[in-house]
Amino acid sequence: MNRLDVLRGPHPAVDHNARTIAALAANPGCDRRAVFDAAGVDKRAIARHLGHPAPFGQSVFAITRARAFEKLVKADGCAELLRLLRELFGLDVGEVTYVDVAETGEPGHAARHARTRELLRGAARAAADGRAAGVLVDHPLLRLDVGGTEVHLEPDVIALQAGGRFHVIAIKSFAIIDGRAEPAQVAAAARQAAVYVHALRTLLAAEGADPALVAHNVVLVCPKDFANTPTATFVDVRQQLAVLARQLARLTRIDRILDRLPPDLTFDLRPGPDGTPTRPADDLARAVRQVPARFAPECLSTCDMAYFCRAEAREQAATDLLGRAVRDALGGLATIPEVLGLAEGAREPAEDEAEIADRLRLVHRFYAEALDAAAKEVAVA
Ligand code: SF4
Repeated sequence: MNRLDVLRGPHPAVDHNARTIAALAANPGCDRRAVFDAAGVDKRAIARHLGHPAPFGQSVFAITRARAFEKLVKADGCAELLRLLRELFGLDVGEVTYVDVAETGEPGHAARHARTRELLRGAARAAADGRAAGVLVDHPLLRLDVGGTEVHLEPDVIALQAGGRFHVIAIKSFAIIDGRAEPAQVAAAARQAAVYVHALRTLLAAEGADPALVAHNVVLVCPKDFANTPTATFVDVRQQLAVLARQLARLTRIDRILDRLPPDLTFDLRPGPDGTPTRPADDLARAVRQVPARFAPECLSTCDMAYFCRAEAREQAATDLLGRAVRDALGGLATIPEVLGLAEGAREPAEDEAEIADRLRLVHRFYAEALDAAAKEVAVA
């Protein structure tokens, strides 16, 4: 049994996906999330057992609706998708080859990835030679190294335009109404699609092809208005790609994090005969706390552990609670009492805290003067 299996315990591994990679990359300083994701730990089950269940997640209705919409778009060899792409790209439908990777070759991740790779390599060579024809690759399987862990990724579809560029296609079930969609949902879709673009470029580079063959504008397919009729639009993910590449490069390799943890550490919930966890919650909490976290308010919308980590940060009165910008501006002061101690002059600054202490005292003086002036105005009135 390897180290990650010990950490996870006897539970099935929860696979990484584009959403989890985007969330991990959004908080590259969090060892806890990195370890949980690398080991395939079910963060949602852990948070629930700790008494801090995640407040988000798709409802059964939303999942069913999303599946039905994807099925509609992909029915009959992606006929509806081809119609949309023809409008968007000006493709001649007759020139497009449709390949469903899930139905070709051997079953299993390795075979699917090999088949995807073979198809994309051939298409990239044809594109480089100016012989590109339209290709739709359904159920492709990509791979990406995330902090030393190999992750499989499943974009909805990859299209090679007759003009010679690959486009990632993201099928989402949120509506585009009067040409506009909910910005938060589009932003989340763009972050996930950027992960696929990055993985696809990595694959082409490994094959000796030009990564720039993969377009930075992905195709977002959503229901139009209040009907279930699909519509397609381009979304530019250049900014998300730049952030992702920078954050992935900052991730600490998982083996280095594991070296710092106790060898017998495990997040095993010790399921009983009916699957109910039997491990005492405080024992599990002690195990979780062995892995340093880096809470930020953004965790509340991206990580199943957010409510546990926020409670922990509150217990510690951590400056993490104030947000990344404030925490970084405080130059490494870990707790709010430390900040107040320096600001009020109740604590002598260490040598490397002299500059931030001067600034905090100045702000504290301005604040006290402003309060004083306001109190005098009230007294006069
Ligand atoms: S919620 Fe906790 S585990 Fe998740 S990313 Fe934030 S700090 Fe890390």
